[in-house]
Amino acid sequence: TMNTSPILLMAPLYPPTQQELESRWTVRRLFEAADADALLDELAADCRVVVTTGGRGIDAAAMARLPKLELVACFGVGVDAIDVDYCKAHGIAVTNTPDVLTEDVADLALALLLATLRRIPAGDRFVREGRWLKGSMPLTQSLQGRKVGIVGLGRIGMAIARRCEAFGTPIGWHGPRAKPDVSWPWFDDVVALGRWADVLVAACPGGAATRGLVSRAVLEALGPDGVFVNIARGSVVDEPAMVELLGNGKLGSAGLDVFDDEPNVPAALLTMENVVLQPHVGSGTHPTRTAMGRLVLDNVAAWMEGKPLVTPLP
Ligand code: NAP
Repeated sequence: TMNTSPILLMAPLYPPTQQELESRWTVRRLFEAADADALLDELAADCRVVVTTGGRGIDAAAMARLPKLELVACFGVGVDAIDVDYCKAHGIAVTNTPDVLTEDVADLALALLLATLRRIPAGDRFVREGRWLKGSMPLTQSLQGRKVGIVGLGRIGMAIARRCEAFGTPIGWHGPRAKPDVSWPWFDDVVALGRWADVLVAACPGGAATRGLVSRAVLEALGPDGVFVNIARGSVVDEPAMVELLGNGKLGSAGLDVFDDEPNVPAALLTMENVVLQPHVGSGTHPTRTAMGRLVLDNVAAWMEGKPLVTPLP
């Protein structure tokens, strides 16, 4: 029957979510398999559900070895690591975890922005290392009077914009199409947004369509006093150009939660004082991970019971 069909788990999940998944259904862990090929062969006849993470995803080659596959349930909202085109072509449904992580990710974007402008990690080190006893810390830049450009005004981008309104900053944004119900100015060209803005925050999806969208030209337009904040994906920025411009002063500073080759971070960033780094933790709080896990479990349960999926990709 359907609900004895084994679930292939591509990567470890938030432990309480994984525990519940494994207590309710038969789960096979690809990430611990001594022989991944053998496991895929074994599952080919009856694996109908894959559970994965935004970081791990699943590629076409793996899915091609699971001809009975009907659902890929993603722990995370970003599905850029899942070959969604393959899923569409093969009638495989994809679910993700939208909305429940929006506010936490937007909070981290503002935290990174303020930490970068106000040099909060440096201030913390200044106190801990006893340097305050010998003098005061150098002054920093301010968020006040700065224009914030948002690349990708979706759920998270909107939540970032709402927070920026509370801080009193003018807002502009770039996305693939204008939105009639949005009053903040829309820039059809991301370089033009970079020229207008003092702070650029990336909140668009990753994947081929946005690779390098925040280009060298965009970062140069942002300029020596400009701040770049990335909570989207490392792929959306030309990372080598970003590192170079942060190093030679042509880009002011950056607050980064995401990188092109996680968990590897370009070595040059590690010694820069004008950069604040986070280990991809936008959604990394207990309440949000719990809610994301609930959505993954509810989607799998819906599929197992033949009910409509809770959060399918359109
Ligand atoms: P969403 O609601 O789908 O928003 C994405 C927005 O990006 C949409 O407004 C979309 O435009 C826009 N967009 C699409 N292509 C674009 C392009 N080429 N240039 C500029 N904008 C473009 O998704 P979300 O829930 O806000 O999540 C956004 C992304 O954040 C995820 O895909 C994920 O990669 C990232 N994320 C990161 C973390 C973290 O821990 N750091 C956590 C969660 C999510 P339209 O409105 O016109 O479609």
